[in-house]
This record gives sequence, structure tokens and C-alpha cells, in this order.
Amino acid sequence: MTKIIIRNATILDVEAGAFQDTCDLVIADGRIAEIGKVGASSGEARQVDLRGRVLMPGLCDAHVHVIVPMNSFAQLTRWSPTYVAIRALPTLEGMLMRGFTTVRDAGGADFGLARAVEEGLMPSPRLLYSGKALSQSGGHGDMRGPGENAWDDHYYVPSLGRICNGVDAVRAAARDEIRRGAHQVKLMVGGGIASYTDPIHFLQFSKDEIRAAVEEAANAHTYVMAHAYTAACIRHAVECGVRSIEHGNFLDDETALLMVERGAYLVPTLSAYTTMWDEGLEVGMPAELHAKIKPVLDAGSRQLEIAARHQVPIVYGTDLIGPLHRHQSLEFRIRREVLPAAEVIRHATSNAAELFNMNDRIGHVREGYVADLIALDGNPLEDIEVLMKPSNLALIMKEGRIFREVV
Ligand code: ZN
Ligand code: ZN
Repeated sequence: MTKIIIRNATILDVEAGAFQDTCDLVIADGRIAEIGKVGASSGEARQVDLRGRVLMPGLCDAHVHVIVPMNSFAQLTRWSPTYVAIRALPTLEGMLMRGFTTVRDAGGADFGLARAVEEGLMPSPRLLYSGKALSQSGGHGDMRGPGENAWDDHYYVPSLGRICNGVDAVRAAARDEIRRGAHQVKLMVGGGIASYTDPIHFLQFSKDEIRAAVEEAANAHTYVMAHAYTAACIRHAVECGVRSIEHGNFLDDETALLMVERGAYLVPTLSAYTTMWDEGLEVGMPAELHAKIKPVLDAGSRQLEIAARHQVPIVYGTDLIGPLHRHQSLEFRIRREVLPAAEVIRHATSNAAELFNMNDRIGHVREGYVADLIALDGNPLEDIEVLMKPSNLALIMKEGRIFREVV
């Protein structure tokens, strides 16, 4: 049994948005075995003295694409799956070293990467993968230009999505992703930025197709997450039982109320637009796709204010591509401009854990929970930017394993 004693920790209770009295924690076999005062004689256990530093749950990012290259998703299909996987390694390690101990992949990552992570073959957050996102022809997961007919649908051609049309095909694709171990099913239910033939305001999939995927996910005790920008797209998804709305930039009051009524979550990805707008062309984004960012960027952070006003549960997401992943923690600053720090911290901890149906294991520092922990030089309730500099992370622990210790 591997045992670590963390001493003199000031635990941040994310639910209360307050600190607890300084205490010690016993970490055993990847879990928080005990919280309290631990005596001096603790045998062989490794000791980490935080000297009063803030200790909080590891962060969660509910919208990433760990295999996406820098210029366009279409390029992926010309690459070898092994090359794509190896390129994902520094991206995954970068996330962990920013304090993210769980990430949910919104399309592209598969059971191979997740298995390698689980076996501890490389430093990485826990990877909740969707497999390939389901898209209709001409939908956001269809990366063909208008003059292209062919789509190589061999499963091992790297891509973010797969194309399926009709209730039976959507049902079969959802079942197939679940068969491959997908933690949740991802659907594209509206137009997007990084695809060529679908303006943002297009609705995608029929209601019956969406309902089929929702039913298959529910049968497998999981849920559907859906890419949707406009209020009409969000309603299109939520009315059919989709639980997690990705992006949701054009949320309005009426749609927020519907989300609350149906128990849906909102995963904004605001850092994606500002960074893609500023640096997208530089890192090789095609100009015609870059131009699609502007109206989304101009919508600003209004969705945060609307969602918070109606108490839609909000979760941290980023949706960055390639080298822009270095801005993963910028989302904290953008959200803090609209919402209190404690609330923004919940987006990346307890709210995320609830959305992932992992509320009994992660998202809090509690006895019996998985030892996903970060310790900070600074107080994130006073200054959320503490979470933006990896150098402020005095401890990064995932499942009881230490990846950074500067104490
Ligand atoms: Zn999307
Ligand atoms: Zn995405």
C-alpha cells in the first residue's frame, strides 16, 4: 500500500467557497483515506508539508480535443493514428501540469489513449472520452469541402467525428461508440466554426435522430453532450434530453429556463474564441474558418450572466486547438470578470464532477474521494489568477501519484 501524508493543508471547501482549519491528510492507494490530525510517527509514509498552503480538488476541463492539430481538423484524416497519439502526449501532460486532473474529450480521443492514461504510461489527466462525435452529412463533424465526396469511414482514420444519417444509423453509431467504451456520446446538433459547409445557425440532426442517441446513452447509464451555439440549437438538443450543452454562446433567457427545467448543464468555451481570433491565422487556421469566429466572439460573455441569473449549472470548458492549449487557464480570468471566484472554481470542480456523474469520487477534498489534489501558492478566492500560472502549483497529485511537488 502506497501511503503519503500531506501535512498542514488549508483545504478549500469548494461547495461553501470557504477554507477549513489547517489539517493533515492521509493518502492511501490513490484515495483520501483520512482528514484530520495525523501523529508524528507514521512509519514509512512519504511526507509532504504544505505549510498552510491552500489545497483544493484537481481541476476539470469538460471540453477539450486532445488530438486536434493546429491548422484544421481535416488534416487529421491524412495522418497515422500512431502519429496522432504521440502528438497528443505533450498536450495531455501540459494539461496535467496546469492542474487539470480530469478532462472530458469532446471528440477524437479513443479507448487506446484512455487505456494508456489509465495504465499510467504517460503523465496525463484522467481522460473521459467520447470516441468520435456523431454528425450528419454536412454537419460540424463533416470536414469535407463542398467539392469532396469521399469520406474514409474506417474507424482508425483519425478524425473528430463520424457521419451518420437517419435514426437507425445514429442509433448504430451511438451503440458503436459505447461499445468502444465512450464515457458519453457526443453529437453535433448545429453549425460550427471549424467545418466548411455549415454556418453557425444551421440546426443539425432531426429530433428523432437526437432522441435515438439520447435513448442509447441512457440505456448505457450515460448521457449526450451536444455542440450547439444558437438558442434554437440548444432548444433542439435540450428538448430531446441532451444533458450537456457545449459552447451555447447565444443562450437566451427562455432557453436558460428550459435548461434548468430539464436539468441540462452549460459548458461555455470562451477562451477558444479570443485565442483563435488573435492567434488562429498565425498557427495555420484557414482564413474562411477564422472569419466564422467573429460573431461568436462578439457575443462575449453574456451567456455566463444569463446562465448564472437563471441558475443553469455551468461547467469549465475550453475547446482549444493545438498550440493554443497553453491558454487553457485563461478561461478562469474570462469567467471571473462576470462571476464570483468561488462560483468559477465550482465550474472546474464540483459542477464538473456532477456533470460527469462522478460527484461521489472527484470534485471535492473529502475522505473516501480520489486523491486528485492541487496545492497553491496564493488564495484563489481573492485572486483567481493564482490558478493561471503553473508555477503557483506547489503540488499536483492525481490518484495519489505526485506529478509536481515544490514545497
Ligand atoms: Zn463544438
Ligand atoms: Zn469542441
